[in-house]
Amino acid sequence: MKKIEDYVRSIPDFPEPGIIFRDVTSVLQSKDGLKLAIDQMQALLKDVEFDVIAGPESRGFIFGVPIAYNLNKAFIPVRKKGKLPCETVSMEYDLEYGKAVIEMHKDAIKPGQKVVIIDDLIATGGTIEAITKLIEELGGEVIKIIFLMELKGLNGRAKLQGYDVEAVIKYE
Ligand code: 5GP
Repeated sequence: MKKIEDYVRSIPDFPEPGIIFRDVTSVLQSKDGLKLAIDQMQALLKDVEFDVIAGPESRGFIFGVPIAYNLNKAFIPVRKKGKLPCETVSMEYDLEYGKAVIEMHKDAIKPGQKVVIIDDLIATGGTIEAITKLIEELGGEVIKIIFLMELKGLNGRAKLQGYDVEAVIKYE
């Protein structure tokens, strides 16, 4: 029986020299890889009480929506700048390579709601740190953060101290 790790393809020097890109498409394009990924990420929410799942464009959607659906919760899309049509809150952050701005609708989260964040991968942690700030600005409480993959060498967890962070697969 294959493990989830067996479905992740590693590409050296993409998108820039020196970066080993951990490809999630190779997981998704296998029905067994996709099922293992969703099931193992969802298992981390066993016994966790929460209200909604939030996930960033675009790979956070891929994993966040099926888990929200399976657990009968709503899903809050966190999008790149300029994509959301109503009033938003926004945050600029640093990426492993470059800068970006993400946004959420102001009415996406109600004060006091318990939020789980889901994404494919933590690298520097900048994306998810920005999302935690947006959720808290809206009055939500981040109670767990789940990734399929963690690149430990980039020490993204340092940006997420105080949060309950878990990853299914860890790379040094
Ligand atoms: P961070 O903000 O943690 O530095 O970057 C995380 C985001 O960058 C993730 O949402 C992820 O989609 C993307 N990313 C950075 N490095 C990789 C990688 O090696 N593989 C994949 N699939 N995504 C990456």
